[in-house]
Formats: sequence, C-alpha cells, structure tokens
Amino acid sequence: MKSAVKIALEVTKEQAVILDSQSKMANWLYNRLLERANDLRKRYRVSQDKEIGRTLYSERGLRDLIPNLKIEHPFLKAVYSSVLKNAALRLSKAIRDYQDGKHGRRANTVRWPKFRAWKRTWFSLQYDEPHKGFALCGRTLTLSLGKDAAGKQLALVLELAEMLPPWVNHQHIRQCRIVKEGHLYSVIFTVERQLPNGKPLSPSKIVALDPNHKNFAYAVGSDGKATEIHNPYFLKSFDKRIDRLKSKRDHCKKKAHLITRADGSQFWLPSKRWLMLNNRLQDVLRKRRDQTKQFLFTVANRLSHDYDAVGVGDYVPHGGGISKKMRRSMNNRSLNGRFKQVMAWVALRSGKQYLEWEEGGSTRTCHDCGFVVQGGIPVEVREWDCPNADCLRHHIRDENAARNGLTRTLRALALPCSGRREVTSRRAWRFNGLGLTSGVR
Ligand SMILES: [Zn+2]
Repeated sequence: MKSAVKIALEVTKEQAVILDSQSKMANWLYNRLLERANDLRKRYRVSQDKEIGRTLYSERGLRDLIPNLKIEHPFLKAVYSSVLKNAALRLSKAIRDYQDGKHGRRANTVRWPKFRAWKRTWFSLQYDEPHKGFALCGRTLTLSLGKDAAGKQLALVLELAEMLPPWVNHQHIRQCRIVKEGHLYSVIFTVERQLPNGKPLSPSKIVALDPNHKNFAYAVGSDGKATEIHNPYFLKSFDKRIDRLKSKRDHCKKKAHLITRADGSQFWLPSKRWLMLNNRLQDVLRKRRDQTKQFLFTVANRLSHDYDAVGVGDYVPHGGGISKKMRRSMNNRSLNGRFKQVMAWVALRSGKQYLEWEEGGSTRTCHDCGFVVQGGIPVEVREWDCPNADCLRHHIRDENAARNGLTRTLRALALPCSGRREVTSRRAWRFNGLGLTSGVR
C-alpha cells in the first residue's frame, strides 16, 4: 500500500536559488522536448514513419532523446538524471493520455500538452527511484544534483521542518518529490506501508467503491452485496446557510474603524455586525466539518468491519471548463478525497487493506463481456444495455463500474479475479447524523 507524506522544508535564500534553477532547467527540458514532439507529430502525420511513432508515442521514446540533448546543452548536466528523465516521462504520459482520449480509451477531454511557464507553475523535482539521488537522515535530506563543469557530483543538504511521522520506516520510502507552493518549499515522500499484522485476506470479503458525482459512492463486494452509499443530506442545507451568512457578512463594513496602536502602527477593526456574522459563519463551518468527519468515519468503520480489503476508484473529476487549479482543490477538499485519507487510516488501524484502483474505462466497459462503448457513456445515463449482440446485459451505470473495480481490486491483491463479479442483493446506506441506516435502493 502506498501513501504520501508531505513535509515543509527549511530553505535558505541560497538554497532557494539552487532549487529554482534546477526546476527551471527541468522545465526548459520539458519545453524543448515538447518542441521536438510537435515537430515529430507533423512529420508523423505525413510519413507514418514507425521510428518517429515510437519516439513520439511510446512510454520512453522522448526520454531516449535526453543523452543527445545533454551533449548539445551541457548545462543540463547540472541536474540529476532521474529529475530530467522524469520531465520526459511526464511529457510522454501527457501525449499518451491525449492519444487515449482520441482513440476512445478514456474521456476525450485531454488536450495535446502545452508549453509550461515556469513562472506560473514551479516544475517539481521528482526522484522516482528508491534510495537513488536522495538520502534522509533524521531531519536532514541530501539531494543529489547533477555534475559541475569539472565533472564533480553536486549535492544540496536541506532540513525538514519536522520529523517524519513515526509509522514511516526510512527503508520503505520509494520516491521523493520537491514542490514549491507560493514561497514555501516542501518534500513529498511516497512510502510503501507495511500492514501492522497483515491478517490473511478472505477472497469473499473484498469490496470495491466507485465514487461518483451523483452519489457518494457505489460499492460492490465479493460477497455479492451492492451498496449505494448516499451523500449525507446535511451538506446541502449547511452550504445554503453558509452562503447566506457569507453574503450577509460581506454586506457589512469590514474596514469600519481605523485603530492606531501605541507604537503608531494602524489596523482596521471591522464593525460589530461583521464580527458577529463572521463568528456565526465560523460556527456553521465548524459544525459542517464535524458532521462530515463523522460521516466519513462511520462509512469507513462499517466497510472496515464488513470487509478485509477496500479498493476505492482513483476518481479524478474532469471535463470541460475545469481548470487545473479547480481540479486540484476539488480533489483535495472533496468528500471523496478526504474519504480516501480516512479510509486508509481506518484500514491501517484495524489491520485491513486499503488500495486504489485505476478508474480508466471502468464505466464504459461492460463487465460481463468486456465490450467497450466508444466515446463513453454520458453522465446523465444511469442505466444502459450492452450493445454487444451476444451480451445485451442491462447495467446500472455505477454498479457496472464498481464490478469492474472489484475485478481490478482483486487483481491488485493477487487474488483470483477471472470471471464475473455477480451481484446477489442491493441496498442503500444513508447517514442519519449518528449512524448508517440500511434500506432498499
Ligand atoms: Zn456486454
């Protein structure tokens, strides 16, 4: 099971300059390779040359261009090899995602990659091989950079703002990524977690969840039970109250009185009404947080109680009009994003397994015969019939996706996964503020 730990870095001005320049060079390489890819794409359209196709569309084709680029542009040698390699892999992944969309293997919303502006988004530095290029000792993180003109290996020694959480064993750190948000630098470690007392898995006690727009999630277990987990009813009413309070508050003067402190400095004191409304707003926000947390823990506890392993679809909202920034915040703050954190924690605590399965194609693929509906199934279609004349099976949209998810979950757990996952009974879970009520779907 993989999880990520993010810790702030204490970075001096000189170190920030070095990190920025590493990021700039990786960003430069990405753009340089994209320029090449754009050119190759034009040529491929004309010639259909296999060699060009391999460079452009294979997983590692662009990466193989790096050694020659290093000769042409020796400054690249100042960056660690896996960081450069990763810039190429990221571009190849973006191109392959675009191709998958074009050929109906995933939602057709992915655009051909664009040039990246370093000033807008800091290019993260990814060290993706275990124990290579980075070393952690206590709070000291040593990063290998590239080599200087004389061929001497360069390194950067950074301090973590805090220790790693106690459950992280240094031996289990797989990857290390340096990111910058605002002025803050952080490191994200990807950690392979060991289960506390790895209980043996019972093949009939595995469940897969398909998170979706309409409901919280749809679950299908290897025990044949299908469960529609409803979004908590209270969220909507809280959101209405929050919007009302916000608009009332924002009608009041925030800058009501200019106060001068004894030392001569000044600040604005909001009006009494603004403060009162703001307090009420904070109160509602806090209640919303508490109830949401209770809902998430209740669902996670129940699943952990009923099953040995829980697989959750790696749902990423996408579609028209959603910017990268919006998508990120949706992911981080959405109920589903938080549920994954809670579920992972509850599973770990109770010696159960938590994992994520890749959702790509799970909705459009008929679980029973494997037929893939080209162009996907529109969101508003909740039930459909398999168009394959030999199958014609009637599907509940989310149930079909969750059944595919269950197969993928079983496969990831190295359990038998051939054949179909059948549903023998259906139910619905609703959260009533205290616990889950189980009813008919
Ligand atoms: Zn079918």
